[in-house]
Formats: sequence, C-alpha cells, structure tokens
Amino acid sequence: MTKPKIVILGGGFGGLFTALDLAGTADVTLVSDADHFLFTPMLYEYLSGEVEAWHIAPRYDELLDESVHFIQSAVTGIDLASQTISLSGREKSLNYDVLVLALGGITNYVGVEGAQEFTLPFRKLAHADNLRQIMVDALDRIAPDMPPQDVRRELTFAVVGAGASGCELSTKMSDLLIDAFKRRALHGEPRVLVIEMGDRVVPGMGDQIREFVEEALLKSRVEVHTKTRVVKVAKDELTFEHEGNRESLKTAGVVWTGGVKMSPLIEQLDAEKNKRGLLIVKPTMQLSQHVNVFALGDIAFYPDATPTLAGTAQLAYQQASLAADNIKAYMQGREMHSRHFEELGEAISLGTERAAVLTGGKAFGGALARQARFALYTSRLPTWHHRLRVGASWFFGGTTPRPLLPLGFER
Ligand SMILES: Cc1cc2nc3c(=O)[nH]c(=O)nc-3n(C[C@H](O)[C@H](O)[C@H](O)COP(=O)(O)OP(=O)(O)OC[C@H]3O[C@@H](n4cnc5c(N)ncnc54)[C@H](O)[C@@H]3O)c2cc1C
Repeated sequence: MTKPKIVILGGGFGGLFTALDLAGTADVTLVSDADHFLFTPMLYEYLSGEVEAWHIAPRYDELLDESVHFIQSAVTGIDLASQTISLSGREKSLNYDVLVLALGGITNYVGVEGAQEFTLPFRKLAHADNLRQIMVDALDRIAPDMPPQDVRRELTFAVVGAGASGCELSTKMSDLLIDAFKRRALHGEPRVLVIEMGDRVVPGMGDQIREFVEEALLKSRVEVHTKTRVVKVAKDELTFEHEGNRESLKTAGVVWTGGVKMSPLIEQLDAEKNKRGLLIVKPTMQLSQHVNVFALGDIAFYPDATPTLAGTAQLAYQQASLAADNIKAYMQGREMHSRHFEELGEAISLGTERAAVLTGGKAFGGALARQARFALYTSRLPTWHHRLRVGASWFFGGTTPRPLLPLGFER
C-alpha cells in the first residue's frame, strides 16, 4: 500500500515541528525557502553576537532524518482544487493527499511612504547581519575628535514599533552602541529611538512585564516616543508626527518592526478568512471547506486560544503538535481533537545584560531572568540532539556579546 502524501509548506515553528511529529508516519515532504530553521526569539542575541548562527538556525538536514523529504524552494502557487503546489525553479508541481499550510507572515509597512524601500526588516539572519554591518559602518565613520552633538546626529538609529520586538531590538542596539563608544573612545552618546503609535510600549503584554521593559529602556538609554506616527521614510531621514507636530530626523538606520501581514500566497488562496486576512481554521486545525488541509501559526485564526498568543512562536509550536495528532487521526479514520491554547509564560530580552520573564503569574527581571530565558529557550529548540549541543555550548562557552569593532578587529 502506498503511504499518504503529506506536504508541509513552511519550515518555521509551525511547519518544522509538525514535520518532526509526523516523521515516519507517512510520505512527508517539507518545503521551505531557506536551508535552515530560525529560532526567531533569539535573533536579537544573534545580532549582538551572544549566540551564533548554528545555535538558533540549524540546517534542516541536521534536524530531519530520511523519513522527511526536504525541498528547499519558494512556493509560488497553491491550488486547493487540484491539490497541487507550484515551486520556484521546478516544472513539475507537487501533489498531496494532506496539506499543511505554515508559511508565516511578512513585514507589514502599513502603506507608509518609503518604509519598504528605506527601512530594514528584522525577521531573518541576513537582516541581522545587515543591521550589524550598518551599525559598524556608521561607527567607523565617526572620527575620535568629532564633537558630541555631531556624533549623536550621525549615530541616530530608529526602531519603528514598540511591541516586544521593537523593545528587544532597541535595547540590544543601544547597549551594543554604548559599549562600542567606550571601546573606540568616542565623544558623546549614540541615539536610539523607539517609535510607537499607541500610548504605551509592549501593548500586547501585561502590566507586570511592562514595568521591567520600561525600566530596561531607561537603563539602555533608549528614547521612547509613544503616540507618535511615522509618516515618511527617505534615505537617511525619518519623518514622524506627534500631537499634530511633524519632525524630521537624520538617521543612520531605521528598522521596521511595525507589524506582520499575510503573504500574497495566502491572500490569493480561495478559503475562508477573517478581517485581518488570516485563514479561519476549525478547532481541529482544518480549513472549513477542505478537510485535508490544515493551517497553523501566524497565518491561521484559531478561535480557542488566549488572545495574547496571536502571532507568537509559542502558539505555532503548540498548534504543531495538535495538527500532527489530528493528521494522524485523519489518515487512520479516527476522531480528531481540539485544544485550548494557553499562554506558556513570557520571556523578553532587554539589552545585552537583562531580560524579563513571566512565569506562573510572577514576573522577574535582570541578569537572572537573562539566564532563565537562555535555559527556557534551550528546552524549546528543535530535537534533543540540537538542544544538547547548544545547551553545552552556552553552558561551557558562555554567551557574551561580540562588540561592534572595526573590520579586522572582530574576534
Ligand atoms: C525577530 C522576531 C522575534 C520574535 N520573537 C518571538 C518571541 O520571543 N516569542 C514568540 O512567541 N514569538 C516571537 N516571534 C514570532 C514568531 O517568530 C512567529 O509567531 C512564529 O515564527 C510563527 O510560526 P509560523 O510557523 O507561522 O511561521 P514562521 O516561523 O515565520 O515560518 C514560516 C516559514 O515559511 C517559510 N516561507 C515563507 N514563505 C515561503 C514561500 N513562499 N515558500 C517557501 N517557504 C516560505 C519561511 O522562510 C519560514 O521558514 C518573533 C518573530 C520575529 C520576526
């Protein structure tokens, strides 16, 4: 008897963990556009050099055995009627008996003029490499005798959006730049702004953890601009509006963490969606009109989940196990299940020295929280083998940041 063909699109938190759970149960194919998984919650630590690429971005061929067929390619079309998938650079399309959609979101520039062209996204290893290089280049342009006010103008970086991502990134960038100032004996200070439309930082998180975030932003000397809307971005310039006043700033770099939207592939899919364009899934993770199609993670709206979990790795990770169980049940003609998804706790990186963690209803911060976050994330990495290797490397090798030194001086 031939095994049913399961095709999983997207090798992130939803897709990879579903593939790992389904390995060996059917003819499983995972399709993703990169050759590696990315543990996004630690992309900030990759920027600062606290972790290395192999820690947080293991290659799929190290994570998957021969029971999962991996194809590195960009999905270019999904046809639910003919049950076929088109892939970039491949004439022959893939067909499936069961499809798993886990393609994640893309950066949402919300139509701000110049944002897509002149800001940096922060979702992939390459984005972090690029941002780090831009910071080093900007520092390299500063002469040691430049007056502090000129230095500040030349080294102004802005992060748009003060959600968890914007706060994690701005504190990390500011700590790295301040450290580089000391090492390079520059006059004055760098300037890092975080700009937020709403009236407070980390709007999706509870008050307990917000206190730690606000304190860390202050300690890392990040300028917080709430109730402020970015209206235009140009090369080296950012324009924003606060209470009717418009201001423009010269910038060395602007990073956009302002939101996530659906990719054109999901937008074009003929399936039921909510107002934000997310695929509405049944409590079993299936699309309502396609019993053999399951969707999860950032592209799926699952009704029975704590609202703060929307768009998080922890939701995608939990959904992967339900999706895999239900796919096995579907193939064997057994009853499928549903689950209520709960918040597993929150952990947020705050600069190179601190973090904040909320667990069991209690929040704590500082250096201890930083250690706890490393320990927690070791346990969330994919596969036992990888967890052990990374855990040992962090434990014995340490996790100190890599300073922003000029080219040739980096260790
Ligand atoms: C910098 C950053 C930090 C974050 N920190 C946290 C955190 O601390 N805690 C938390 O809970 N969540 C965090 N998140 C959110 C979390 O990463 C997402 O919610 C989670 O990754 C969603 O999982 P997913 O499987 O839906 O999508 P993803 O993990 O994004 O996976 C989608 C996969 O599909 C691939 N793909 C996309 N389009 C195509 C295509 N056309 N063809 C082939 N492959 C394609 C992508 O390359 C990717 O591998 C963070 C996100 C970012 C960007």
